[in-house]
Amino acid sequence: MGFEQLYDPANIRGMQEIVPGLFLSGSQAAQNREILNENGITHVIQVTDILTPKFPGEFIYKLITVPDLDETNLIKHFAATYKFIQEAIDNGKKVLVHCMAGASRSVTIVCAYLMKTKQISTEEAIALVRELRPIADPNNGFRAQLDLYADIEYEVDINRSEYRRFLISAMAAEREMIGYIQEMTLAADPMKAVQSGPRIAGRLPAGPLPAPPTGPLPDVRAMIDPRGSTTLGQAQSRPLPPLKCKKCRRALVSRDNVIEHMPGQGQNAFEYRKRDAVLHISEAIQSNNTTVRHGASGAGCQQYFVEPVEWIQGLQGLEGKIACPKCDSKLGAFNWSGDQCSCGAWVTPAFMMHKGKVDG
Ligand SMILES: [Zn+2]
Ligand SMILES: [Zn+2]
Repeated sequence: MGFEQLYDPANIRGMQEIVPGLFLSGSQAAQNREILNENGITHVIQVTDILTPKFPGEFIYKLITVPDLDETNLIKHFAATYKFIQEAIDNGKKVLVHCMAGASRSVTIVCAYLMKTKQISTEEAIALVRELRPIADPNNGFRAQLDLYADIEYEVDINRSEYRRFLISAMAAEREMIGYIQEMTLAADPMKAVQSGPRIAGRLPAGPLPAPPTGPLPDVRAMIDPRGSTTLGQAQSRPLPPLKCKKCRRALVSRDNVIEHMPGQGQNAFEYRKRDAVLHISEAIQSNNTTVRHGASGAGCQQYFVEPVEWIQGLQGLEGKIACPKCDSKLGAFNWSGDQCSCGAWVTPAFMMHKGKVDG
């Protein structure tokens, strides 16, 4: 496409109907009542930093207040934006999705909708949008999230291990950027999961840092279902027992929350992961997708890497020790910036338990 077409001001300022009933624009068209009315818009999804709706009461707004950064979690909104768009269209209404430029955030929301309805890939969806709006160009983090969305078959579900691993990578990136984690997603304590019977799914905010020591409960209470996840291509076999403390036999973490890694990656991977924070998320997703099929950790690995579990203390800190919640035996350590396995592989973030301390 030519330079003139790409930077055609009328196209950039206007709005385009991507599929019947679904429109896309930047902020200019979204703040122009005539353009909105000419196109019959009734519903608006606004994905911007801080911008109050221009015409409250005249249109039905859905607001998503996020910056256009690789690290922004947009995928967690995909289920709600899909529903908002689909219900409006089913009722003969017309939806505008807009951000500031109409290039990254809004395009990502529209692409997610197209991908689910048409069962197409990220690149196919972006190409569809670009035919009408050539400046469409989601940032790399959003592209990785759209790829993940396809991998999890367009259902954003915390019971999918791929999605949980993405959230954990995003938590590590957030910690690196702002020094704490606003909302923690943690693996459930296998002891609680057994006691409570019905599955526990969902997340709770971890609260601001530092959380005041108000009682015996840990400051982090979010938990996720350790059992419900199935990975594509995995055989439906009897689940393995959880990892247990060697000393007191307490169940520590479900098998589904143990992260496999490709053994033996050396110093290059170490340097790369350590320094390139922007690529953490997509790299983590890729490595998880490829290593799941690798089976158990290699013989050279003297550690288990696990998802952060709710009983681990001091999770808002950059690093810390992991001790058994029952007998206080030292099991391992964690580091949000990552750590190296004995086989040489670098895992970010790292929640490590020594194989000599736990029974697997
Ligand atoms: Zn290893
Ligand atoms: Zn113990």
